[in-house]
Amino acid sequence: MIVGILGGGQLARMLALAGYPLGLKFVFLDPTADACAFPLGEALHGSYNDKHLLDRLAERADVVTYEFENVPTDAVQSLSRRVPVYPSPEALAFKQDRLREKLLFQELGIPTPLFHPVDTLRDLEEAATRLGLPMVLKTRSQGYDGKGQVVIEQTDDLKSVWEHMDKVPWMAEKYVAFVREVSAIAVRSRRGETAFYALAENIHRHGILHLSRSCPRDPMASLARQYAERLLTRLDYVGVLALELFQVGDGLLANEFAPRVHNSGHWTIEGTETSQFENHLRSILGLPLGSTAAVGSVAMVNCIGDLPDPTRLLSLEGVHLHDYGKPTRPGRKVGHVTVRANDDKSLQARLDAVCELLKGSASKCFQ
Ligand code: AMP
Repeated sequence: MIVGILGGGQLARMLALAGYPLGLKFVFLDPTADACAFPLGEALHGSYNDKHLLDRLAERADVVTYEFENVPTDAVQSLSRRVPVYPSPEALAFKQDRLREKLLFQELGIPTPLFHPVDTLRDLEEAATRLGLPMVLKTRSQGYDGKGQVVIEQTDDLKSVWEHMDKVPWMAEKYVAFVREVSAIAVRSRRGETAFYALAENIHRHGILHLSRSCPRDPMASLARQYAERLLTRLDYVGVLALELFQVGDGLLANEFAPRVHNSGHWTIEGTETSQFENHLRSILGLPLGSTAAVGSVAMVNCIGDLPDPTRLLSLEGVHLHDYGKPTRPGRKVGHVTVRANDDKSLQARLDAVCELLKGSASKCFQ
């Protein structure tokens, strides 16, 4: 079987690494000449809208998936007329517009921060009155990792901020003073079978995920799971889905969902029986899902901008390095480190050692 992937970044690369033991082959389409997944399969280099490349992908692949949500809907839709595409273009369309995504949360009774669409200065002023300040402005499409976001603190700033903003559709959201950020990683197969991973607790720095920890006995897990389950059912979803949530008091507010494997689920590679990557492949191929049971206590630290010295890092116990094979660049995710132990106390000690080692590097550790 050949799996086609739109996107050739680290998520595509980790999907391929999980697919090889299952005898799968891969074909990737990516506009970047040195996309880090390219060495792991057939590389189609060029635009997502290139008709010849889309034809080639449809001819070669038995099933197509994508590793990020900003792929053009038209390309995904045209592919889906020729080859099964999972998650469906319908699920993707909800994700490509923050307003539709929020309205979907509302429809499903999933609480979300108060929001207000913004197309004009007047809308922005109305949003400030309705939501209160501070508020977060986000582009309705094409935003990720905190890109396309501005926090407005004061009424006096509204006009000047608006003048400097791109004239694209925006969304204002109430700024949430959350206790912590968590995510639910769920998977649903072509057969309608579902599975859920332990809740992940996430720490972001400058809008980018920095550290993610698996919390198998978390009191918020069942609520997060209920919300994720509503999305899976409503979207007749196939594949892995990540739901990012803010905890406020003992409730949860949905920030966004990702129709794909997710950075806050990377610890599932060494920390569970079946990783999110393998389960995504199993689900889109119509195979039975694998157990999501935990293998010890586990956490993941992203390497942003550069990688730690592998000799020193790998001399630590319970540590696994994932080097994505990408050129280093400030702010770029170039790898991650998984830390595993038999219990939470030893995990913390190991995580402390990793953070100590990362101290001097660009990807410094914050816990
Ligand atoms: P996003 O691109 O929507 O995932 O946002 C990136 C990060 O910005 C989130 O993980 C939060 O840390 C922060 N953030 C986003 N929306 C809000 C909000 N409404 N209130 C407070 N922080 C937010």
